Amino acid sequence: MKFKILLVWALLLTFVVNAQNPDAKKYGTQITADQLKEYLSIIASDALEGRETGTRGQKMAAAFIAAHFQELGFKAPVNGSYYQPVELYSSVTGEAYLKVGQTKLENFSGIVYSGTGDSGGEISVPVVFAGYGTEAEFNQVDVKDKAVVVLAKEMRMRGNPAVKMATDKGAKLIILCAHETLAEFDNLAGQFKNFMSGGRLSLTKPQAGNSTVTMLVSPVTVEKIFNTTLKKLQEATTADAKKMPLKKFKGANVQYKVTSEVKITYSDNVLGYLEGTDKKDELVVVTAHYDHIGKMKSGTGDLINNGADDDGSGTVSVLAIAKAFAQAKKEGKGPRRSILFMTVTGEEKGLLGSEYYSEHPVFPLASTVVDLNIDMVGRRDPQHKDSAPYVYVIGSDKLSADLHELSERVNKENLNIGFDYTYNDQNHPDRLYYRSDHWNFAKKNIPIVFYFDGIHEDYHKPSDEVSKIEFDLIEKRAQTVFYTAWEIANRDNRLKVDEEKKIKE
Ligand SMILES: [Zn+2]
Repeated sequence: MKFKILLVWALLLTFVVNAQNPDAKKYGTQITADQLKEYLSIIASDALEGRETGTRGQKMAAAFIAAHFQELGFKAPVNGSYYQPVELYSSVTGEAYLKVGQTKLENFSGIVYSGTGDSGGEISVPVVFAGYGTEAEFNQVDVKDKAVVVLAKEMRMRGNPAVKMATDKGAKLIILCAHETLAEFDNLAGQFKNFMSGGRLSLTKPQAGNSTVTMLVSPVTVEKIFNTTLKKLQEATTADAKKMPLKKFKGANVQYKVTSEVKITYSDNVLGYLEGTDKKDELVVVTAHYDHIGKMKSGTGDLINNGADDDGSGTVSVLAIAKAFAQAKKEGKGPRRSILFMTVTGEEKGLLGSEYYSEHPVFPLASTVVDLNIDMVGRRDPQHKDSAPYVYVIGSDKLSADLHELSERVNKENLNIGFDYTYNDQNHPDRLYYRSDHWNFAKKNIPIVFYFDGIHEDYHKPSDEVSKIEFDLIEKRAQTVFYTAWEIANRDNRLKVDEEKKIKE
């Protein structure tokens, strides 16, 4: 009797634990560690040079992904192409010079200018001296529409308090001298010359500002401006403006000119589309960013930021999930809703590719049901060194209780890996809910889940290598995303968005 009861219990338990869908399981288990390793060994190889946005390495990765989608028989959804072109703009410094008397100082020789302003031709301005650029000193000189020379305590041009004060008081040109010797200055100028290439990328064409211009100059330049020595200038500064007022120096007018140029970087989102059956007008989106930060600009040894985890791991997960769904479709088990597999560009530059898609969607956002975003799923963070398989799950409850319930349940019915919600807190200082591509869907009130492995010691370093990836762990995480996508794509009702959770414009 007792034995019989036990048997019934055992049967019941088996039933509960195995509530998983046999079809889902058949295709989910086709996502394997070996397959993921094969893909990632290509995507994150040195040959792709860190897949920097706009470079040949990024284009090689894009071509690999597009070929994969083609092989799976996916529709090319962007007017017959797998590529959605994304043009990115950046401002770079153009011409920059400073004339002192008969001497014309070009950028990096005697002056350093790294801004992207436009003076609108050559400007001639009188020069005043503001000592160390303290508030007391600024109170003793009129800098409005003039060039002001500051013996800067800080070399940085952005966020420098002296620069802010001079700007607030209406100076046209701020001349900072932060070095005691010409050699020190030349060393810095050399570094600027080498590293000052691309500016910050954006989706909109930048407008050159006609704002205050800040230049860093050598001590020799300052001596030339006031026709005196650096020592005399230093002695004229004042620590206590009340007791000892700032000494005035006469300088002739200086002339300057700065221009900027707009650089265009060409990249693409890569999209593969699997058409659904009876609910094909509704769309499930699975995303990962496929480009990364490229090579280190200086240093020795390994300079290639392979981005095996960030986000090679997510990219190959998307490819493997896509393949499993394609196989299901071939065998008559294709999803009811359509699925868009999208690897996006420019995540590292500010979620630009996904933002572009959300502003230029290929499929209506109104019929887009969910975005499952995978960004870094190949590693462990120090908090989970010896833990059972886990993944950080972020955002699942933010717009849809329905999605959160589904995500939890599907995991329990299948691999039951640890779902860590540490970063799900919107007030967590790391703000991860806003930091990967899903955010561009969430802000359009499309429910999302973001899968993430945490911050580890190789984050954004050349040591983010394939050899450090735990492929059995990506396998489990990618399968979990697959089961979640399967359920969302095949269930009767569309995921419900909770009205009170919507972001109001
Ligand atoms: Zn990333």
